Amino acid sequence: MTNPAKPNTNRLLQQSHTNMPMGVADSYRYWGEDNTVFVKSSEGCTITDADDQTFVDFRLAYGPIILGYRDTRIDQEVIKAITERGTISGFSTDLDSEVIELVKQMCPNIEKMRFANSGTEAVIGAVRTARGFTGRNKIVVVEGGFHGLYDEMMWKSDVDNWDAASGKAPEIASFGVGIPEASREHLETVPLNSFEAIDAVFARVGGDIAAIVIEPILGNCGSIASSQEYMQKLRDMCDANGTLLIMDEVKTGFRVAKGGAQELYGIKADLTTYAKAMGNGYPVAAFGGRADVMDIINFNKKGVTHGGTYTANMIALSAAKATLTILNETDAYATINKVGAQIQQVLSRVFTKHGVEHRFAGPDSMFGIHFGDLVPTNYRDWKQTDSELYTEFAMNLIKHGIMLEPDSREPWFICEAHKSVDLAWLEEIADRSMAEAIAQ
Ligand code: PMP
Repeated sequence: MTNPAKPNTNRLLQQSHTNMPMGVADSYRYWGEDNTVFVKSSEGCTITDADDQTFVDFRLAYGPIILGYRDTRIDQEVIKAITERGTISGFSTDLDSEVIELVKQMCPNIEKMRFANSGTEAVIGAVRTARGFTGRNKIVVVEGGFHGLYDEMMWKSDVDNWDAASGKAPEIASFGVGIPEASREHLETVPLNSFEAIDAVFARVGGDIAAIVIEPILGNCGSIASSQEYMQKLRDMCDANGTLLIMDEVKTGFRVAKGGAQELYGIKADLTTYAKAMGNGYPVAAFGGRADVMDIINFNKKGVTHGGTYTANMIALSAAKATLTILNETDAYATINKVGAQIQQVLSRVFTKHGVEHRFAGPDSMFGIHFGDLVPTNYRDWKQTDSELYTEFAMNLIKHGIMLEPDSREPWFICEAHKSVDLAWLEEIADRSMAEAIAQ
């Protein structure tokens, strides 16, 4: 079956099937034979598909776009940098420190930093650094968090197949095959916001825990946020046990505030990972934190190894410099937060009109929507929300020109260019989409 309204998309997908498994470059881009999207162009807060349908995009490539697509303020700096200086030389440049000094102005948790090419690589670097510094192996992660596509992080709490009534914790399952069982050996998982679970894991293996790795706001689980008390508890447990606190701010960093989630909580991590919003869509990532911890990175037998051919390339660094300068010096965050709040008001009105109980989670720049009367506090709670109604609603929005991930675990992302969105239009589309979802 193919979508008759999308002849160009159908053709591209058929061709892609002969070239790539599932016909896509990233498995998560496959939305079935009828709904897989091929993008032709993008501008501001919109993307246009191969059949010339334009969407107002709240998916924003899973979060990186913070200002808008094709922002000339960034693109021109990148073009200038690569035409004048080239892309890589395999040596250091003045931009390395320039970008880090900008980050340090915005994020007081950073004393020293290293660059990476993706969020995954940044997490690998941070975890290895924490292990090298502490001399310990275990890491604790939170159910519903996501930390990249590498073996050790390819284990998840299997809430999809969990019987909540069983009274048992969900199983831990791998993301598919090809993940060695041994990669799970040093991984402990806890539900977010449970003091008992964190006490229990420290009571059992506390002396072996190198780090807790946490998305402070679960950007991969409907923006469910750590409570202030829980984040403080993690900080205290880490301090008391010689464990490092790693905040994975790949989604929240430079998005939810200048200083990321750590600014909102007023709590510092020992190490932090960044990517996404740091480059407004250019592929840049980094990890950093306490100088004494980062200084374990050293080219000797007792040091942690870190590097990479493309690390700190000119494309990434010029994009990061331009993006961070704008985020640091303009009122972009005020705009994004205001628009995000307005959009939630519009949606709330629509849901209320249709008698749909709903709760929003997370900050205005990346909020989650949960249908039901429960404010989820962790991934297990999320299971109680009406995620099926959400998916129906989302698929209708997409049909009518609003792009988002049709899974309530992925937040709505706001960029500065969304300030041009016609809220009355949004309300009308949301109204129609919810009416259709309920009628189905
Ligand atoms: N950490 C978090 C919190 C993420 O959301 C992601 C990606 N969605 C990653 C790490 C991995 O980043 P990347 O896809 O750039 O490797």
